[in-house]
Amino acid sequence: MINKADSILKNIFGYDKFRPLQEKIIHNVLSKKDAFVIMPTGGGKSLCYQIPALIFEGLTVVVSPLISLMKDQVEQLREYGVQAIYLNSSLSQEDYRANEEKIRNNRVKLLYVAPETLLMKKTLDLLASVKVDCLTIDEAHCISEWGHDFRPEYRQIAELKSYFPEAVSIALTATATPRVQDDIINNLHLKESQKFLASFNRHNLYIQVVRKVNPLEQTLDFLEKYPNQSGIIYCFSRRQVDDLYEELHYRGFSVLPYHAGLSDSERKRHQEQFIKDDVQIIVATIAFGMGINKPNVRFVIHYDLPKNIESYYQEIGRAGRDGLKAHCLLLFNYGDIRKINYFIDQKEDKERRIAKMHLDALVRYAESYECRRIPLLNYFGEKYSQENCSMCDNCNTEAKDLIDVTVRAQQFLSCIKRTGEIFGAVHITDVLRGSKTKKVIAKNHDSLSTYGIGDDLSKNQWLSLSRQFIQKNLIEKDPEFGSLKVTGKGYEVLKGKRNVMGKLEAEEIKFTARAETDLHYDKNLFEILRSERKEIADKLGIPPYVIFPDKTLIEMAAYFPQTVNQLLKIHGVGKVKFDRYGKKFLNIVTDYCIKNHIGSITKTRRQRNSQITKAGKTRRYIVVTEAYQSGRKVEDILNEFNFKLGTFLSHLNRYVREGNAVNTDALLPLLEIDSAQQKIVLNLFKEHGTDLLRPVFDELDGKVSYNDLQIMRLLMMNKEVVKNK
Ligand code: ADP
Ligand code: ZN
Repeated sequence: MINKADSILKNIFGYDKFRPLQEKIIHNVLSKKDAFVIMPTGGGKSLCYQIPALIFEGLTVVVSPLISLMKDQVEQLREYGVQAIYLNSSLSQEDYRANEEKIRNNRVKLLYVAPETLLMKKTLDLLASVKVDCLTIDEAHCISEWGHDFRPEYRQIAELKSYFPEAVSIALTATATPRVQDDIINNLHLKESQKFLASFNRHNLYIQVVRKVNPLEQTLDFLEKYPNQSGIIYCFSRRQVDDLYEELHYRGFSVLPYHAGLSDSERKRHQEQFIKDDVQIIVATIAFGMGINKPNVRFVIHYDLPKNIESYYQEIGRAGRDGLKAHCLLLFNYGDIRKINYFIDQKEDKERRIAKMHLDALVRYAESYECRRIPLLNYFGEKYSQENCSMCDNCNTEAKDLIDVTVRAQQFLSCIKRTGEIFGAVHITDVLRGSKTKKVIAKNHDSLSTYGIGDDLSKNQWLSLSRQFIQKNLIEKDPEFGSLKVTGKGYEVLKGKRNVMGKLEAEEIKFTARAETDLHYDKNLFEILRSERKEIADKLGIPPYVIFPDKTLIEMAAYFPQTVNQLLKIHGVGKVKFDRYGKKFLNIVTDYCIKNHIGSITKTRRQRNSQITKAGKTRRYIVVTEAYQSGRKVEDILNEFNFKLGTFLSHLNRYVREGNAVNTDALLPLLEIDSAQQKIVLNLFKEHGTDLLRPVFDELDGKVSYNDLQIMRLLMMNKEVVKNK
């Protein structure tokens, strides 16, 4: 049966292989063993029940809490040619009845249903008349009062299991907290052994925390790196949302606001426009994001501090569901923390303690200099042990310029001592920078020897250093008053017995695009494909990603498929989608290739090659050849990679030697020898073989350059490859 699952994965969904755990879970479900699946957002939970649903003879019932989610899933499944429907309050009476009829006549494989609808007697009666093979409980955390989304009706679903004696049940959630998980297990009478817990590491998210100095400027600089890309910006308050929306809108960004102050219909419309790629950016309070499944969100910015680590992780999790890279930025400053603390202080005792704990964890996370994934995953009980994730600010060498800050530490610590260890970081900084604040004057601190000795650093740089000193346990901060004290370790620094390494923050942080795909692809072709997709989607009234995800278009623009078989190898192209849209997209690619003299790149061949290096990067010769195959000028490629023609030709040589064809048209003009000489060279290669250039070079007394020999050899080998295809 698992073979069947394999072929469905490929033929219906168009994917090459299962993700971790998917196969195991599907195997379990097919053997009618209940399963509890915990995977992060974008982990691939849906296939775990959708593939069995297509194999089972009977019906799969999927309980889902939100109408928008049901709609999205059903739209996607229909595009794959799968018979799926939903029953909920959004349907007209007529459609509702028609759907019931389809169930009665066994004409559907998957039924999505709201919990309250499922609990109705008439629904249960209807389902009793057909064979139900699987009961899926999606967003299973709704069962738990500890979850962020408790739904009382979910509680009753457990009792329904007895209505479907033949059905296996599978519960799925992206909630990582153990308490919620235990609740789900208890409520659904599952066993610990039936739990499938995937890693919560989202390797495709680039995670960055930056000191918030001038948030608007910073945001603009960031957005400049992601033109035409979808993203969400989270703000703390409605007012902030409106203000930022105005600013961005005024500057010509494609942007809309989203918060609880807007009417239901406005909110719905804005969300819809975002999903359909009609608008690129949503500025929102945290209310936004639940129940949307847009896979190509390329960035999430936290303009203000999130509520706690869990919601932060959930919010950044809305980026990069398609598995392509996405950039998550948190803007963080101490003013915000003071503001939140102020709110927290107004709360009741217990609530206040919990809120403070959450805030502290968040501050610790933001201040940390270790890999961002360590504290994040640790929060969810997972240990991240990779040395360098390469996808966070702290693991990226540029940000990790540690320098010797021993003298700075001595200045700071001695200033603490001299002022009697009763002041906080702001005052110490004022003294060091020689400020004439009221407090400095009143306390006579302008007469201290440390007054003004640190005026070459900015206030923010000193404050950042002070936090590092706290982290390194050189100073202690009084939890109540915020005053600083020098620790034993700190004294060692003062006495010159210990050195301190740290990071001196740059005054201005410029952003770099971090969500670029590794695959080199033709951007022009991608845009053409994208607008075709949008046109089709608009005609059908569905989101573009339902037709094909971005990854599919990117692969098309990288491999230039020009035959049916080549197209079927592209990610996300299954048989039904191929039948529906294949021709259209194939024609576009073919036309484009003819116009631009581009040959196709065989995807399977590439995959057999040892193309990935240990560091997880695509090998250079492939990157270079792809750049060339995408129609770019040789001259531009040499400039970009900063190497000589000979090196470039060696890269192509390696690619062709592995059995891949390239388009040789652009190489011919580079030849400096005439056709008579070319013939001679070809004959010599036939005689000496193509492994080495030297014998041919020597035979010609060095009259033909190595570059020309390389080109001739390429032409010859390429011809062989094409012939053997
Ligand atoms: P979740 O429900 O866990 O948030 P989804 O089921 O929506 O995640 O899957 C996220 C994305 O990954 C979807 O676009 C889905 O089609 C894709 N996906 C799932 N499994 C695979 C796979 N084995 N290979 C490639 N893509 C996959
Ligand atoms: Zn890291």
